[in-house]
Amino acid sequence: MIPAAFEYYRPKDMAGVLSILVEHGDDARVMAGGHSLIPMMKLRMADVPHLIDLQDIPDLSNITVTSDSIRIGAMVTQADLIDDAELSAAAPILREAALQIADPQVRYMGTIGGNVANGDPGNDMPGLMQCLDATFHLIGPDGERDVAARDFYEAAYMTDREDDEVLVGVTFPTPSGGYAYEKQKRKIGDYATAAAAVQIVKDGDTCTFASVAMTNLSDTPIYSADAVDALVGSKIDDAAIKAAIAAMLEDIDPSEDNRGPVAFKNHVAGVILRRTIERAWSRA
Ligand code: FAD
Repeated sequence: MIPAAFEYYRPKDMAGVLSILVEHGDDARVMAGGHSLIPMMKLRMADVPHLIDLQDIPDLSNITVTSDSIRIGAMVTQADLIDDAELSAAAPILREAALQIADPQVRYMGTIGGNVANGDPGNDMPGLMQCLDATFHLIGPDGERDVAARDFYEAAYMTDREDDEVLVGVTFPTPSGGYAYEKQKRKIGDYATAAAAVQIVKDGDTCTFASVAMTNLSDTPIYSADAVDALVGSKIDDAAIKAAIAAMLEDIDPSEDNRGPVAFKNHVAGVILRRTIERAWSRA
């Protein structure tokens, strides 16, 4: 398929990006790795008369790791997330999740910014960012603002980002304790049928902190506060895991599609969450 005709822009700074967004409004869209946007344009599911390539904008490809927090620039690719030794040491869940996205070709192009800004429920990074309690940094003609990942997603492809805003990076507290990202998919390179991100901190044999988020089981990623409540204070025994799964199932709202009927997705979600909790606990 061939996309509709479009004007291609490659500004050298953010002011240039914002001026094109302001001038063309809805008709302009930024492009990062292009591995979600270009297929949509080719399928004529996205009409973008003015396409703004972000690859020459400085300072969007940095990863900054401190003992308190980690900041990742929007143009950092999934391959960068996998290859960055300092990031992998401080937050290995990023590498574990990124390795489960598509294939190496896609990962060389796809960016964390594009993955979280896209609003596709199938994208893996939004749920992970909710699990890590990340903050998204946006810049627009009225200046900069921050939005919590847990507040960013409104519906499929609908987010809190305004059309004239650009996501410049994400920040999250440097994680501690155990972690796991588990994903069930139909075949290598596929989007999730169900995926879960879990963080667990323990003191002795008791869970003192947990975070749970699910992917591709609703219109948006789902952070499950009730699943967290079921885990914290427990010894992550079978009863606690069953309670967390039951709470998570109340929060998700999967729909039937070519990945299966609702009952199957609920079943897979439960299996995946159990596996993710057990692995995170074993690493805590
Ligand atoms: P783009 O395609 O450039 O942009 C996507 C959207 O986000 C566009 O609407 C664009 O305007 C907007 N956008 C991009 N950057 C910004 C920004 N900085 N600020 C504001 N808006 C922005 N993803 C997964 O998570 N899991 C998978 O299993 C998976 N499988 C895939 C398999 C295939 C075959 C392909 C082609 C893609 C797959 N993807 C998967 C998607 C891939 O990870 C994408 O690259 C990613 O979702 C989007 O990143 P991008 O940099 O390519 O964004």
